[in-house]
Amino acid sequence: MRATEEKDKGMIFNIQRFSIHDGPGIRTTVFMKGCPLKCLWCSNPESQDFFPNLMVRDINCRGCGACVVSCPEGAIAFDREGGRRLDWSKCNHCLRCVDSCIYHSLNACGRYMTVMEVVEEILKDEDFYRNSGGGMTVSGGEALWQYRFVADLLEACKQMGLHTALDTSGYSSWEKMFHVLKHTDLVLFDIKHLDLKKHREITGVGNSLILENLTRTAQQKRIWLRMPVIQGFNDADEHILRVADLGKRIGAEKVSLLPYHEGGKSKCIQLGRKYGCPEAKTPDDEHLQRLKNLIVAAGIDVTIGN
Ligand code: SF4
Ligand code: SF4
Repeated sequence: MRATEEKDKGMIFNIQRFSIHDGPGIRTTVFMKGCPLKCLWCSNPESQDFFPNLMVRDINCRGCGACVVSCPEGAIAFDREGGRRLDWSKCNHCLRCVDSCIYHSLNACGRYMTVMEVVEEILKDEDFYRNSGGGMTVSGGEALWQYRFVADLLEACKQMGLHTALDTSGYSSWEKMFHVLKHTDLVLFDIKHLDLKKHREITGVGNSLILENLTRTAQQKRIWLRMPVIQGFNDADEHILRVADLGKRIGAEKVSLLPYHEGGKSKCIQLGRKYGCPEAKTPDDEHLQRLKNLIVAAGIDVTIGN
């Protein structure tokens, strides 16, 4: 397995240009790899591991066999029907097979980049940020896991005059978070569930630290509270009203409802993993509108999708 950190570099799994869902205006979103939460519905399961890992697209495979000889663990073989099979229990994500596959059936997720390499990418769309009131957002995974790199990246972007946003679960020590917030204009603070037991069930960790950090963050930064809406998990009226009340109490500018989508399902297949909540459904527009009305009636602004 490759090292989880390279000195002075951050591990990034995606840089998305022209994003309109991660803060105001047109933005570039930098997705950092590694997350201490394991949300059942995660739409970016490839972000969770703290190391670059293998992703497989079976559809691209031409059966050339080059990968079989490249794998030191004997994890790749062909079955009787001639289909390439990967034994995930043997795979240690060394990624040697990736270079052997010229058809991009085997791909690496996660690459190390310097702050300046990321800034260069971000600056390509500088004019769009200025004309739309946008900027850059750091997301994840959990961006605070690589807090030193993220703080340096945000600081560099601020020095270039860009608006900066941090999308976080808030699951971090306050010291790390404080370090990053120094260079952050807006915090997109994710709320999965306000009930401690339920939160642990659906994310793998409790929410006490998260709520403590939320209160402290609100004392110094602009906040949008973001809630993924997972039907049957966190969309009961009573819970929605508690989220609205929390937003009002801490002075959040708004609540953002982010409807669940099934994007994580196919990625789990590519990662050789079982999807955490196959029963989850995308909430329909009518349901989302009703939740939106509840929040508005509670006295706080709300948007759907950003
Ligand atoms: S190298 Fe690529 S195309 Fe060839 S068998 Fe392996 S996965 Fe398939
Ligand atoms: S990443 Fe590829 S080469 Fe490395 S162990 Fe896994 S299957 Fe084998």
